[in-house]
Amino acid sequence: MPLDTVKNIVLVLSGKGGVGKSSITTQLALTLSLQGYSVGVLDIDLTGPSIPRFFGIEDSKVRQAPGGWIPVPVHDAQPPLPPRDPTTTTAQNPIGALSCMSLGFILSSRSDAVIWRGPKKTAMVRQFLSDVLWPDNLDYLLIDTPPGTSDEHISLLETLLKTVTPSQLSGAVVVTTPQAISISDVKKELNFCKKVGLRVLGVVENMAGFVCPNCSECTNVFSKGGGEIMAREFEVPFLGSIPIDPAFVYLIEEGIRPVYPQGTLIAGKEVGSQEVQA
Ligand code: ADP
Repeated sequence: MPLDTVKNIVLVLSGKGGVGKSSITTQLALTLSLQGYSVGVLDIDLTGPSIPRFFGIEDSKVRQAPGGWIPVPVHDAQPPLPPRDPTTTTAQNPIGALSCMSLGFILSSRSDAVIWRGPKKTAMVRQFLSDVLWPDNLDYLLIDTPPGTSDEHISLLETLLKTVTPSQLSGAVVVTTPQAISISDVKKELNFCKKVGLRVLGVVENMAGFVCPNCSECTNVFSKGGGEIMAREFEVPFLGSIPIDPAFVYLIEEGIRPVYPQGTLIAGKEVGSQEVQA
């Protein structure tokens, strides 16, 4: 079975669309890969599969092998980079291979999925879980899910609970923005996790404040800290907040892959070989 040797499966959830769930999935994938882990990203946000665009590989096509689909490579594994600071000799981590499967690679038109009925979406989710040939011993499989709790979530969890061991299913990262409306939607998401017995790895508050491109000062456009309060209320970890950053949007639009390791924005068309400090 394609998921047999995957070591950790992480779902990325949000109560609402547009809060940055796919962006966070992309960031998590790139960051884990830069730490040397092999990573796969499965995009089952069937109504708006944006992950291929965020990785700058939207024109790629999935290859069909006799046993299933071969995910599209984002980058291959690479040896450690030279030290960032030339005065030290500490080499950086090797880079883990990163690959991606998304409905976006298969659709002839981006609007096709929007008109699908529930059973067709359910069938597609099951096929994505059973027919994608992830590399052996993949360290992390990140699953970008649609917003809310829909048919896709239920069939995803039903299938996962039947096909993988509890130790493989690490849990969910829940993304929210600081506004009250997003927080109240994400509470439903946390209740859903509780109901189906899915561990919450933590809450990320995205778009928490705006970083001025001129002076780099961060202004709290919306309220701030709601994600942290909610995490405390539900007794789940708070993983941190990420500001609105125009450079992030620019890089995504250009098909460049930005990464936020410890709050620093780094981007490279090819991670590791052409890094740009933004
Ligand atoms: P979702 O998956 O929740 O629908 P996306 O990840 O597609 O949301 O993000 C929606 C839009 O917001 C995208 O254009 C993305 O580039 C932008 N975005 C997300 N997070 C940030 C951020 N921290 N700063 C600036 N833009 C962001």
